[in-house]
Amino acid sequence: MRLLLVEDNARLSELVRRALTADGFAVDSAQTLQAAQEFLEIAAYDLIVLDLGLPDGDGLTLVKSLRAHTHAVPILVMTARDGLDDRISGLDLGADDYLVKPFATAELAARCRALLRRPGGVLGSVLTAGNLSLDCNGREARVAEKRLDLPPRELSLLELLLRRSGQVVPRANLQNGLYSMGQEVSPNALEAAASRLRRRLAAAGSDVTLHTAHGVGYALLPPQPKG
Ligand code: CA
Repeated sequence: MRLLLVEDNARLSELVRRALTADGFAVDSAQTLQAAQEFLEIAAYDLIVLDLGLPDGDGLTLVKSLRAHTHAVPILVMTARDGLDDRISGLDLGADDYLVKPFATAELAARCRALLRRPGGVLGSVLTAGNLSLDCNGREARVAEKRLDLPPRELSLLELLLRRSGQVVPRANLQNGLYSMGQEVSPNALEAAASRLRRRLAAAGSDVTLHTAHGVGYALLPPQPKG
């Protein structure tokens, strides 16, 4: 899941970025409205976390312009305690949720996941294929009911593949969902993550196959029905 964080306070931005990255999001950080616009032109985001008081303007103008262009991406607004009016106008203009500063980063991560699970959002709560299941709420994978521990990156890869189980998910989509901008990613990082995930699934006795469509992408294939 790829997330755009728009926050000009460097300390808060870094704190939030770390927490959300640990929760499996690929996070791009913008400090200004203009930077946010530029990010939005070149990448596809599953969620935007937006501060309202930005050096070059009001975050609400971004909400307004995204909604005017019928952008359906969920937006969570972060606002100061005295910004009650901001909150209301934010929701009026099409933000999906708000959080009052200061907040616990765990609360923010939970709200982000909740937004992605909404109808039309990108998260279902439990995804399955064969004997494999992933609870997106608890971020817990299981093979035949047995818990499978995966590092965050592999868990995210599994999630992206499970959402389109049986189909080839293009490399670009996977990379977009897994890595944030400016992150040093070696050319074969995706291959390496996929092969680690494949090994772990096999070791855990999963009956799904992680198929490589060479040069195109990857697919998670449920077992073929017998006979
Ligand atoms: Ca601010």
